Amino acid sequence: MDKRYDVIIIGSGAGGGTLARQLAPSGKNILILERGDWLRREAENWDAEAVFEQNRYVSPETWYDRHGRAFQPQVHYFVGGATKLFGAALYRLRREDFGELRHHDGISPAWPITYEELEPYYTRAEQMYHVHGLRDRDPTDPPASAPYPCEPLSNEPRIQQLFEDLTAAGYHPFPAPCAVMINERNMAYSTCIRCRTCDGFPCLVHAKADAEVVAVRPALEFPNVTLLRNAKALRLETNADGTAIAEVIAEVGGEREAFRGDIVVVSCGAANTAKLLLMSANDKHPNGLANGSDQVGRNYMFHNSQAVLALSRERNPTMFQKTIALNDFYFGMDGFEYPMGNIQMIGKSLGPMYRGEKSLETALLPMRLLDDIARHALDFWLSTEDLPDPENRVTVDSAGNLTLSYTPNNQVPKQKLYEKLKSMLGRLGMHPGYLIPRNIYMKTDIPVAGCAHQAGTCRFGTDPKSSVLDPNCKAHELDNLYLVDTSFFVSIGAVNPSLTAIANAIRVGDHLLHRLA
Ligand SMILES: Cc1cc2nc3c(=O)[nH]c(=O)nc-3n(C[C@H](O)[C@H](O)[C@H](O)COP(=O)(O)OP(=O)(O)OC[C@H]3O[C@@H](n4cnc5c(N)ncnc54)[C@H](O)[C@@H]3O)c2cc1C
Ligand code: SF4
Repeated sequence: MDKRYDVIIIGSGAGGGTLARQLAPSGKNILILERGDWLRREAENWDAEAVFEQNRYVSPETWYDRHGRAFQPQVHYFVGGATKLFGAALYRLRREDFGELRHHDGISPAWPITYEELEPYYTRAEQMYHVHGLRDRDPTDPPASAPYPCEPLSNEPRIQQLFEDLTAAGYHPFPAPCAVMINERNMAYSTCIRCRTCDGFPCLVHAKADAEVVAVRPALEFPNVTLLRNAKALRLETNADGTAIAEVIAEVGGEREAFRGDIVVVSCGAANTAKLLLMSANDKHPNGLANGSDQVGRNYMFHNSQAVLALSRERNPTMFQKTIALNDFYFGMDGFEYPMGNIQMIGKSLGPMYRGEKSLETALLPMRLLDDIARHALDFWLSTEDLPDPENRVTVDSAGNLTLSYTPNNQVPKQKLYEKLKSMLGRLGMHPGYLIPRNIYMKTDIPVAGCAHQAGTCRFGTDPKSSVLDPNCKAHELDNLYLVDTSFFVSIGAVNPSLTAIANAIRVGDHLLHRLA
């Protein structure tokens, strides 16, 4: 096999998969190295017990927390990466998120690019990922150059009621941006069947606009793109001067192989990208590749998230619940001047999802009661920004063990958001005062295991002393190394991160096309 490529992309998720799709028509010789395999289409894709109780699609890997305690991170190694399991809520960051924002616990720093610079790529990202939505219903919506490519999803009756109740109470709910390939005007011809097992599940019928379906598979239709599955990058070797990556060393089906590329793009997810750079230390880069700033692995963020359920007075038979959201408290509220975050619906909970969870409120109840709770539950996802802290970091020992040291910050606005929603329930047809934590993405006692929204670790910036990447996401210290996963984030905002990673991958793709021309 000819092992020299124009571009090698390591990791095929939101960042890497999208980049491959963006570069594919160029005719350049592109190799994707993906440590996972295809996620098998099988009945278990939509089986709550298999997915949530038995962790069927979670890697059996072990990471360590700052106390050295082992935990199983909620990571998913497949073609398409974490997007195979994602909830397909594809939000733009708010325009203000790109500037410096004062939070309760300190400053959320400015990005080296403005919202306006990323805006055209957000539009292209929404088009590539078939995002449904409606602009300008949300007062915090940033300006956009085009409407959403697909009309908003309809609300099922209980959610429509919630929408109306929220509106009547003076709030501004809006249709949640959602990346599923549904044709509600003609369901007989729709790929998406609007099922109950979407958020946190793989899509059995490939109707979710995940990175495998809308990016990697279309990229592979071009003869110049090669995907190697079960190919785990172990190390990046530089040239003798240490100025560029010369080889990618990978384990492919148990064998060690070397690949050479003019451009090497790492997109392994924020934690694993930092690990790969740190593991690749050599004489010229003794602290790890691109780490003269000592920033590689630092500033890990993953949102202060809360999955909660409220008990509706009437039953909630909703199938697809994730159709509305609320940003009225994104930047604060009367009496609290700091940003609080986003409220959105998450996938409808089912009895088996609660089983095995550690929260006392649910774990002690028998199954039939859990089923009854599920029948009445309205499920919310609350996201508050966690601030970048250099001590919240990924480190690796010589054996390759990954430690994720994380101390929570910005907890007051998280609590305020929770209390605010709780105080609203009585006016929204729900039992006042019952807002129950539902630790779906964080199924263990160790919150760091819930790393679905991991970001940071290799921030981009203009100053090589305080950032790992330049504004094009090229490593300051290496001529041909780029990163396009969520590791480049300077701050994480309070909306889901994928669309920003996707838009940035398209942006970096344009830069690479120019460079390779
Ligand atoms: C259950 C769940 C629900 C979510 N819901 C949403 C949502 O609704 N909206 C949203 O915006 N975000 C959501 N997310 C988060 C979203 O999926 C991630 O932010 C996004 O996928 C990150 O993209 P990435 O490219 O950084 O990493 P990933 O998409 O995880 O891709 C990394 C890839 O690199 C591969 N890899 C890792 N190490 C190596 C190696 N050494 N060699 C080769 N390959 C390697 C992995 O197998 C993987 O394919 C959710 C995540 C989860 C888990
Ligand atoms: S709701 Fe649609 S996209 Fe989601 S899993 Fe079901 S069929 Fe797939």
